[in-house]
Amino acid sequence: MKIAIYPGSFNPITFGHIDIIERAVTLFDEVIVAVSKNTDKSPLFNEKERCEMIKMSVKHLDNVRVDSFEGLTVKYADFVKAKAVIRGLRALSDFEFEFKMALMNRSLNESVTTVFMMPDARYTHVSSSLVREVASLKGDVSQLVPVLVAKKLIEIFPLD
Ligand code: ADP
Repeated sequence: MKIAIYPGSFNPITFGHIDIIERAVTLFDEVIVAVSKNTDKSPLFNEKERCEMIKMSVKHLDNVRVDSFEGLTVKYADFVKAKAVIRGLRALSDFEFEFKMALMNRSLNESVTTVFMMPDARYTHVSSSLVREVASLKGDVSQLVPVLVAKKLIEIFPLD
């Protein structure tokens, strides 16, 4: 059984994340989307809301599980018996951080491999932080996130 984890903040999940998950499920028997609890102290969505939005967004995929974790990613990978950590790579800006993190994780646990995937070109500019910013300025995010996420954002930032 090939298990991979896809860790991240997912605050909130976007079409970019979903694109990566849809690619990952074709390569692994099970993909665990792992919401990290150790993000900033006042996230727009709490961990439960983030997990709930992911669950609704990946309903169409049957080898995906949603979980949350805290602490080292590689420790969590061991805990769930995953041999791969999936990360998405957008433009060059992701590379330096992801490169360092992948090598650090390897030095912490040789048996876990980081696998990078690139999303469809339509999503290379999409990030959760940009989505939050656009929504807070009452811009249209319907091309960037699933309808259920867009609705949640409008509840927080009502349109005029
Ligand atoms: P983190 O705080 O761990 O970076 P994110 O939720 O921002 O959490 O991202 C989780 C993973 O998904 C990261 O590997 C990130 O590069 C990737 N990712 C985020 N947005 C996109 C996107 N639009 N296309 C592809 N990968 C993405």
